[in-house]
Amino acid sequence: MYCKCGREGFYLRRHSGEILCKRCFTRSIEKTVFKTIRRERLFEPNDRIMIALSGGKDSLTLLYILSKCKYEIFAVTIDEGVSGYREEGISISKSITEKLGIKHYIFTFKEFYGYSLEELYNLALSKGIDLLGCTFCGILRRRLLNSAAIKLGATKVATGHNLDDEAQTVFINLMRGDVSRLMRLGTKPPRHREGFVPRVKPLRYIPEKEIAIYAHLMGFPLYERECPYVRASLRDEVRDLLNQIENRHPGTKFAMVRAADKLSQLLEDRIGEIKYCIKCSSPSSKEVCRACQVLMMLGINFY
Ligand code: SF4
Ligand SMILES: [Zn+2]
Ligand SMILES: [Zn+2]
Repeated sequence: MYCKCGREGFYLRRHSGEILCKRCFTRSIEKTVFKTIRRERLFEPNDRIMIALSGGKDSLTLLYILSKCKYEIFAVTIDEGVSGYREEGISISKSITEKLGIKHYIFTFKEFYGYSLEELYNLALSKGIDLLGCTFCGILRRRLLNSAAIKLGATKVATGHNLDDEAQTVFINLMRGDVSRLMRLGTKPPRHREGFVPRVKPLRYIPEKEIAIYAHLMGFPLYERECPYVRASLRDEVRDLLNQIENRHPGTKFAMVRAADKLSQLLEDRIGEIKYCIKCSSPSSKEVCRACQVLMMLGINFY
């Protein structure tokens, strides 16, 4: 098996049938990211781009590839406050940003919300509320990321969401009948929302497996610890299901994400008026945004 450049093949891209050597593989990943940025006009020349850097393979790949471009970039890591888990990601993030000469900032749940994730977990338990898992944590992290972006003067926030994440989200939104959220997927938000720094996803068309291989070839350190607050979720079930289907029908994840893209293009002018949370003024599809709902439920007076 040989790559089209004549070198020995290393990877068979099943959905396209291509055989790639290591060099062509890494180039093809970078090319896809650059193409996505160009085609979808993710960045303007004057953008100040904040990269959400967890220290995992996706965000490291994003940081590394964007560092090859001429954009003004810096990185932010959110420290949720999970001892024995987050330190590893923070130290990986620090060392890679240092190596690449990219400014790196850390924002903590504790400073922003007054509670670490551990403390929030205990608070929820004491109130008999079951709020564990990444969904709840992710809602609070997004709020903090946006606030960090505003504070640091970012004009865009780039996240490491990959094709698998996006296909799972399409599936979950369909399962929940949440058409409006389905329409808001994409590499960038369909419209500007006051008080919200637009989030873009340059890795949206790269499968998770290929990012893992790219990260390995680039020698990025592996983030091995498991967060104690992760728990089995609907997303895990959807991930397993989609992997099984993809195995038997290569290209399914691409097709799902593209279908969602087409749908949101077709329905673009049907996106209703943007509403704002009555508590915090963040853009929200409901009267009170999800972050405020969580904080209110826990009795945290954030404002
Ligand atoms: S793994 Fe999930 S619960 Fe743990 S810090 Fe990350 S998002 Fe939060
Ligand atoms: Zn090759
Ligand atoms: Zn709110």
